[in-house]
Amino acid sequence: MELRRTFQFEAAHRLPNVASGHKCARLHGHSFQAEIVVEGPLDPRLGWVMDYAEIKAAFAPLYQQLDHNYLNEIPGLENPTSERLAEWIWARLKPALPLLSEVVVAETCTAKCVFRGPA
Ligand SMILES: [Zn+2]
Repeated sequence: MELRRTFQFEAAHRLPNVASGHKCARLHGHSFQAEIVVEGPLDPRLGWVMDYAEIKAAFAPLYQQLDHNYLNEIPGLENPTSERLAEWIWARLKPALPLLSEVVVAETCTAKCVFRGPA
């Protein structure tokens, strides 16, 4: 069974490696959405896979780093595409959240990246 919890954070970024003149080279912001997905068996007594509050607690330190910040200044996010952001979140969340199965990063309502990283 799978649980999905979505977090929204506001952040600025620019993409340093795109062609000059590309709109993403300019400083701009997004209301990013990070969907954190865990997968595991249902606990027969509790009737859940895990407490949603545990997912929130595990993501909290990352939220603190990301929200209302300039992503390019965060170590590991010098080229903060959605794909790199999904990898960055996965690497930092997986140790605290072993059931993590997927990280989805959306920059807009119509564009999102899904990462199912290494165990
Ligand atoms: Zn952007």
